[in-house]
This record gives sequence, C-alpha cells and structure tokens, in this order.
Amino acid sequence: MIFKQLFDTKSSTYTYLIASAKGREALIIDPVIENVDSYINLLNELELKLVKVIDTHIHADHVTGASKLKDISKCSTIMGDHSPANTVDIKVKDDEYIHMDSLKIRAMYTPGHTSDSYSFLMDNYLFSGDTLLINGTGRTDFQNGNAKDAYNSIFNKLLKLPDETLLYPAHDYKGEKVSTIGKEKKQNPRLQVNSIDEYVEIMNNLNLKKPAEIDYNIAKNIKLGA
Ligand code: FE
Repeated sequence: MIFKQLFDTKSSTYTYLIASAKGREALIIDPVIENVDSYINLLNELELKLVKVIDTHIHADHVTGASKLKDISKCSTIMGDHSPANTVDIKVKDDEYIHMDSLKIRAMYTPGHTSDSYSFLMDNYLFSGDTLLINGTGRTDFQNGNAKDAYNSIFNKLLKLPDETLLYPAHDYKGEKVSTIGKEKKQNPRLQVNSIDEYVEIMNNLNLKKPAEIDYNIAKNIKLGA
C-alpha cells in the first residue's frame, strides 16, 4: 500500500493519499484547493491514477480541492449521506464500504463536529476528520454541531475500535502526526470525562473564535470548491 500524509500549513489540515499500489488507483481524503497542483505532481511521480476524493465533512477553515481534482482527473467525489453538497457523485451511508483495487474503506457516520461528519476506516487506519483529534476533539459550535452527538460518535463508535487502531485526524495544530485509539483514551484531556453531561459542559464553554473566512469557505465547500 502507498500512504502519504500531506499537510497544509495555512489551515493545519492533513490530507491523505492512499493507493493499493497494485492497480495504481488512488484516493485522496480532505484535499485543500491551494495544494491541488502538488497532489497532481505527487500522483504523477508515483504513477497513480486518482479515482476517488473524499471529504469527511463540509470544512469551515479551508476550501476543498474536490471539484478541481475531479476536473483534472475525472475522479468521483464522495461524502457521507448527510452532506448538504448536492454535486457530490456518491453519498455513502453509515457502515457502507468504498472499494478501490484491493482496498476496502468503511464509512462511519460520526456527527457532532458538524451534522454531516463522517469518519473512514481502512484496516486499522482511522481517518477521523474533525470528530476525534490528537489530544482534542472537533468543536461543536457551528454547522449544526452538537456536543451530545459528538460524545456518542466518539465514545460509542470511535473509541470502541481496537486500541491499536491508528488515528489520522484532519487537523493538528501542534505537529502531532498520528496517534492510536488506546493512547487517546488514556491521554486526550477531552476524553477524561465521566458522563455525557460533563462532556457537553466542556464543549459548550470553549468560547473559541470563529474561523477566518468561515462563510466564504462553507459556501464554496457546499459546491465542493467549484
Ligand atoms: Fe471541520
């Protein structure tokens, strides 16, 4: 398997490129529009053909490169079935599998950060979007975010995966690249709560600033960045 973790310095977004290597088909998760040319160069260098692009949710802090990648490579665009983006080619359901060459990726509906948030599990690689971050969790204060839903998605879905599952989030602001479910259970400060109410209390009192250009980014992302 080919696996590349790419980083956008402006929005601190992680983008993932995955390929089985055998059939040379590739998939990109959470591309950033400004970096599309570098993804295309990398695909060419690795002699891969991009066939699928997934956005884990409608992002507020950057514009997705999904449409631009589709224009260039004719790949199909994928989001979860709660996405408000009408031009998505394939909307996957909870527990549905995406197949590419010999790879199988399970879609998991994990709302809370936003109402359309999905996570994706390939073998023991979990792409958690902004649902579960390393030493943190995605904020729940816009785009129909909901702290109770987030608690359920994290505690009753993602943390039920085996401890050795590798956690690859959509963002990191402190240079962390990967964690595991087991490590997060023990060390993530947001997860050290005794009840759903305690978690909701924390999330509802974060008092975070809105991301810059949030309205512009969301409007663009509902059109997959077109
Ligand atoms: Fe987000």
